[in-house]
Order: sequence, then structure tokens, then C-alpha cells
Amino acid sequence: MIKLEYIIVIFGLVFGSFANVCILRNLSGESLGGRSHCINCMTELTWLDTIPVLSYLYLHGHCRYCGKSISFQYLVIETLYALVVLSIYLHTGLTISFLLYSVVAFTLIILVGTDFLEKIIDDRIVLGSLLIIVPIQIYLGKIHFLIQGALFAFVCSSFVYLLGITLQNWRKAIYIYLIIWQKKHLPRYLKGAGDGDIMISIFLGIIFGWKAFCLIFLFAHFLVILIYVVSFIKWNSEIPFVPFLAMSVAIHAILPGGLIGQAIYLLKFIRLSY
Ligand SMILES: [Zn+2]
Repeated sequence: MIKLEYIIVIFGLVFGSFANVCILRNLSGESLGGRSHCINCMTELTWLDTIPVLSYLYLHGHCRYCGKSISFQYLVIETLYALVVLSIYLHTGLTISFLLYSVVAFTLIILVGTDFLEKIIDDRIVLGSLLIIVPIQIYLGKIHFLIQGALFAFVCSSFVYLLGITLQNWRKAIYIYLIIWQKKHLPRYLKGAGDGDIMISIFLGIIFGWKAFCLIFLFAHFLVILIYVVSFIKWNSEIPFVPFLAMSVAIHAILPGGLIGQAIYLLKFIRLSY
């Protein structure tokens, strides 16, 4: 009898590989249909060339046909997703929560990838993911997350977005206040968060509810500011925000009691020390 953990890891590797395809095709504008091919020589790949991790290691990270090196990203994302899915399984067992958090992790990996590489956030990925997540949340009796969580996340992220624009350029701010959903000329974080960030915030609000979202959102901003300070990046330079949101979600998932539990612990600690 094969242990279920092995099957979960294989499941993670296969979907990690699929996440890679989603990132690359999202950036290149190709559809998800059609066979995999080498992005250099365009040769169609056989199943032997596309086995997660193993093909990469066997081919020493090079295309079998033209010898061009294959991005290290494949190996990283496949392994990362497999590890994430395994740790979700060890926490939740084979339950509906396993499906929920695996979908969340899958979506975040794609969004981190596209935001990090090209600063693109495709709303369709978030919406597609919500088609699975919303019914699960209803099934789990978390309907209030769908309303409170989404609304709170929308208000919070829009506030930061508008604040960013105001700090940057008040004339432009008035213009955007008047036409809030103007999609053109949207600047990025500190130049102002993009509307893609608002979309992902709503997504996280629906999954985690308003309290946890609030802490995840604040902690992500704390991480961004920390990076600006320690890496001496210029304050007016653009930095993708989604990787920090995803990091914050990961920390929330790893810490005992999540960020809420840690915040309560911290408050008690402060009260005791007075
Ligand atoms: Zn090739």
C-alpha cells in the first residue's frame, strides 16, 4: 500500500508544473490549450520531457533538442508547491480544507510569479479560483467571510491605493477619486498599489475573513517597508506587492494560532509587562 503522503507529493509536483505553465502562458498571452513546447526552439515536448523535477534533473536543466538552458523557475515552483501541499495535508488531512488551501496556494503561486516577473496580475486567475473557493466557503458555513471579508478587504486595499496616489500626486488623485475604477495610468505600490492588488485583497478577505485579512495585509506592508529599509531600494522604485502578501499568508499559516493568535499573545504580553 502506497503511503498517501507520496501521492500528495506527486499531486503537488504535477500541479506545481501546471502552475508554471499558467505563469508562462499568462505572460506570453498563449492559451492553456495545446502541447508544451520549448520556448527557444519551439519543439513539442514529449511526456518524458515534462515529468516534474525528474526531467529537469535528468536533462541537467537543458532542452533535449536545442540545448538551451531551462529556467530554474520550473524546479523551484514544482518543489515549492509540492512541499506546500504536503504541509497543508499534514495539517488538514484529506478534507475539504485541504482542497481549499491547495487552491489558494496554487492561485497565489501563479499570481506571485506573474507579478514578480512582469508586474502583471490577471483578474481571470483570481475569479477562476473563486469559482472553486466560494462554494467551499459556503459549504464550510463561512458565508460571512464572503460578505464581511470581501467588503473589508476592498475598503482597506482601496484606501491604501488612494493614499498612495494622493501622496504621489494630488492632482491625479482628485482625477482618480472622481473616476475610481479608471484602469489607465494605475501606478504601483508606494507609487500607489495597483487595482490587481485590490482584487487579490478581496480574494484573501473571502478566504480568511476580515480579522485575519487585516493582520495579513498589515504584515505584508510591514514586510515591504522592511525590504525597502534593509535593501536600500529607492523609495520611489516599484516593488511587486503580491509576493509580500503571499509571504504574509504563509507566515499566518505557519505560526501557531495564525497572526490573530500571535497578535492576542503580543497584546497580553504588553499588558502583563505594564
Ligand atoms: Zn529547445
